[in-house]
Amino acid sequence: MRWKNLRRSRNVEDRRGMSAGRGSSRGAGPRGTGMGRGVKVGGGGMLLLLLAGLFLGQDLTGLVSGGPGLTQTQSQSPRSGSNNLPANDDAAQFVSAIMATTEDVWTPLFQQAGKQYQPPKLVLFNDGVRSACGFTSSAAGPFYCPGDYQAYIDLDFFDELQRMGAGGDFAGAYVLAHEVGHHVQNLLGVSMSVQRRQRQVSKVESNALSVRAELQADCYAGVWAHHAHKQMQLLEPGDLEEGMNAAAQIGDDVLMKNAGRRVRPESFTHGSAKQRQEWLYIGLKTGDPNQCDTFNSNT
Ligand SMILES: [Zn+2]
Repeated sequence: MRWKNLRRSRNVEDRRGMSAGRGSSRGAGPRGTGMGRGVKVGGGGMLLLLLAGLFLGQDLTGLVSGGPGLTQTQSQSPRSGSNNLPANDDAAQFVSAIMATTEDVWTPLFQQAGKQYQPPKLVLFNDGVRSACGFTSSAAGPFYCPGDYQAYIDLDFFDELQRMGAGGDFAGAYVLAHEVGHHVQNLLGVSMSVQRRQRQVSKVESNALSVRAELQADCYAGVWAHHAHKQMQLLEPGDLEEGMNAAAQIGDDVLMKNAGRRVRPESFTHGSAKQRQEWLYIGLKTGDPNQCDTFNSNT
């Protein structure tokens, strides 16, 4: 990816090195949808948790009352390198550049639909973090919390992606764009309506709704890549392959197989490798968010 000369986002908050205050948690926050979030396990269990939480993103139980505080975010961003993150911190600069591209892509797309895009903030953290969705351990992977309109990532996650065979800068950018996809869903009211429907149905049906929401976030990530490349010539040869490979590696069936578990489609929450690839591709190919209606599709 060609990202070094791109402008940086100012909507990145660096909370690395700060205590997440697990002990002082209010305890009133809604729990995440992730399996075993915040539970300390070792070895393979840790990897399993990470994989399970990978792309967990939208915390569908995490909608809480209270304003989004959108006025605090800024859509005007500085030029390359002029954010408040360490200039030699490549991973932090990378996510700041990618977040800026998501702002530059979604702002006009919302305008075309007669709406206004409010960019999310991305919070960098180590080990664990508190959000409107409660306490979340790094092991759960990057996530988006609809309750505070913010995405969260421990940058060590990029090393984990590498270890699980989903490395490459575009794979990392896809992770971020997927979380921003959940933000788009939140702004459009999709998150709220999915959560409402999930409360009324069985576990199996609730999982199926989760899959639809996750696949839509994948499709939105594809929409981002389409326009980011069009506007900024972001992609280099091999990037698309990296993205498609990452989408496959984090498919529920592949994760279950790799964890030595039986593949049970009814317990999928994010979609199969094939589905994730297909929806990422639909977004990539069309660049049209209206093509991302996963809720009315059997794909
Ligand atoms: Zn997600």
